[in-house]
Amino acid sequence: MLTLEEARAAILAEVTPAAATEMTSLAQAHGRFVARELRARVDNPAFDNSAMDGYALRVADLLAAGFVLPRRGECRCGDAPGRLAAGTTMRIFTGAPLPEGADTVVIQEDIKLEGDTVVFPKTVQPGSHLRRRGEDFHQDDVLYQPGRRLSAYDLALLSAAGVAQIPVYVSARVLVVATGDELVAPGAPLRPGQIYESNRLATILLLRELGMDAVDGGTVRDEPAALRALLKSSADFDFVITSGGASVGDHDLVKQVFAEIGQIKFWKVKIKPGKPIAFGRVGTRTHFFALPGNPVSSLVTFKLFVEPALIAWHHGIPHLPHLAATATNEFRRHPGRTEFLRAHLVSENGKLMATALRGQGSHMLGPLRETNGFIRVEADSAGFKPGETVMAVPLNTEFS
Ligand code: AMP
Ligand code: MG
Repeated sequence: MLTLEEARAAILAEVTPAAATEMTSLAQAHGRFVARELRARVDNPAFDNSAMDGYALRVADLLAAGFVLPRRGECRCGDAPGRLAAGTTMRIFTGAPLPEGADTVVIQEDIKLEGDTVVFPKTVQPGSHLRRRGEDFHQDDVLYQPGRRLSAYDLALLSAAGVAQIPVYVSARVLVVATGDELVAPGAPLRPGQIYESNRLATILLLRELGMDAVDGGTVRDEPAALRALLKSSADFDFVITSGGASVGDHDLVKQVFAEIGQIKFWKVKIKPGKPIAFGRVGTRTHFFALPGNPVSSLVTFKLFVEPALIAWHHGIPHLPHLAATATNEFRRHPGRTEFLRAHLVSENGKLMATALRGQGSHMLGPLRETNGFIRVEADSAGFKPGETVMAVPLNTEFS
């Protein structure tokens, strides 16, 4: 059985990265993966300008005139830079171009106006309150490399750099299927022995959050013919993700049918929850994940295995951040598998505190209400006590 790290490495070694690209607008590029180097089209700042509201001057003039200069003209944002008349000072505003000949801005709070004459303090620092052309980045600088996933901040930077069209990788087409004879859609009446299906929608939504083109493949019964038909129709997809039927029971047929039609790269990983996961390929295009059916196992294995595979497919570099945290409660167990406990993470006075939630059964969804991360328990660990340092894996950045 593979360890967590071995399984993750096997996935990254197997994923065939995307080739198809498309151009998108800035707005559509949000959350997408850059397909070619992106370079700045302009210098930023585009011209020397004032960092403050105040007065532009030449220090040599100021010294020669004994810190008193007549005010001539005004330069506002959007004005084309004029020339500073020798021996004068010009009114200037934040972001306005520095007039030719000026080398310093003095903020308006530091001067005294006497009619049309400006009295400056003796403490003027030459070169102060200026933003220099290109001090942020230069035209043609490489801003992003392929594989970078674009955030809202990135799109602010690209806007400032004058990049309007972004080459991105075409999003992976991902088919999501639930399997199990007991599964019923929420809202329908439950007959004895039936349960509501709860994996498929969450998986589709997680995929969409990652920018994927997720397709709902519905629920398939535990019948070899139905599963075979599903797998044979998967050629139009880059990824197929199933939940359920990946274990060793008589009716756990997904893995069996998968082995028959595709190639399994691995089955079972030494983790808890989520041990019975299978990964492999069907045909030349499709990557296949058979996730376990238990709701928590399916969400954990999505995070640990599916997400990195998708990021790698889009030429990104996946990483699972681990943060040192202080345990607030005790957790005991038998060593064996690497375990991911659903946890609530809070930052308190600059320290990250992690609470293992009650109800860690992989069928229990209740604790998901408070889950904003995991506590990772190493394979050889017997648990932890309050106050001990544990490794936390955040699921989002809201630590409250
Ligand atoms: P399996 O992996 O098919 O052996 O299923 C393990 C457990 O998860 C069983 O209790 C199933 O009823 C349950 N399960 C499987 N698929 C789903 C699903 N899509 N939604 C909710 N529970 C599921
Ligand atoms: Mg099942």
